[in-house]
Amino acid sequence: MTAIISRLSAAVLLCMMLAACSTDDTPDTALDDGIDFTDRGRDVPSFSADSAFAFIEAQLAFGPRNPNSEGHRAASAWFTEKLREYAGRRAVFTQEFEHQGYDEVLDMVNIIASFNPTASDRIMLCAHWDTRPRAEHDDDPDARDTPLMGADDGASGVAVLLELARIMADNPPPIGVDIILFDGEDYGEEGDLANYFLGSRYWSANPPVPGYMPRFGILLDMVGGREALFPLEQYSARYAPAVQQEVWSIADELGFERFLNEPGMYVQDDHMILNEEYGLPTINIIHQSRQPGYGDGTWNFPPWWHTHGDDIEIIDRDVLGEVGEVLLELIYNRL
Ligand SMILES: [Zn+2]
Repeated sequence: MTAIISRLSAAVLLCMMLAACSTDDTPDTALDDGIDFTDRGRDVPSFSADSAFAFIEAQLAFGPRNPNSEGHRAASAWFTEKLREYAGRRAVFTQEFEHQGYDEVLDMVNIIASFNPTASDRIMLCAHWDTRPRAEHDDDPDARDTPLMGADDGASGVAVLLELARIMADNPPPIGVDIILFDGEDYGEEGDLANYFLGSRYWSANPPVPGYMPRFGILLDMVGGREALFPLEQYSARYAPAVQQEVWSIADELGFERFLNEPGMYVQDDHMILNEEYGLPTINIIHQSRQPGYGDGTWNFPPWWHTHGDDIEIIDRDVLGEVGEVLLELIYNRL
């Protein structure tokens, strides 16, 4: 994810968006009204935080996974193979595309896996799998131009999704679940939004299944860092409030206090593209911190954000586990 809009400028943007709503078909917050989240009393499989942690380690073993790097090529092949193992070969699709980056043409790939593929009633879960080619917030100026490992920013969301895929392989979900690993979320230089969200933008403009519209989407980004707090990300609250409230109420029922029922930042991330360019109500579960850092003054990204501190040492299995358990309860018992 990238820069945050301050509360003031977010209010300005909101006015612009409302103005846009009155003149075109921009989706409004009513889209996800009417989704039934009844507790159905079903058994819910258990999430293995150790397995999710191992999926982070496996990604880091490829090195940084920034576009056009060796780690990027190797990791994408591995994700495709793992998802074929869990979803079946015919239920995995890679969407390859090129993007003109900074002095290079990038070879990009979104990786998509469908569980219970014949169900017409579906949800979508996603994360970005690429990692950042630079670490501009690192304390060491000499290290700011080198790619980072992205244990949290990249690998953690993918790891939770791979663990869900492993579970769904053995426990067919009662609804259709599509997993999308987006490429190129984090390529852009700070402030250059045209070079962020490359995979979700391409997917939104070129949906592999024309007319595809699941009930909603959930984006995971930075869901493994120690001391994670998950206040209510504000684009999610705008575009998919019912989904966000249900996810947070499940967390509350399960006793996971890091899901805070209070407003967080407006975070520009892949879900913003899915909401605004594709019209799919999508929430973002993303770590926000009260520690000093880059943010809106109240909430900030964690201290390792876009530094070389974003490595395996800052990963907490309990955070991965809580996010995974909330999603399993949603998938198997609320829809
Ligand atoms: Zn990032």
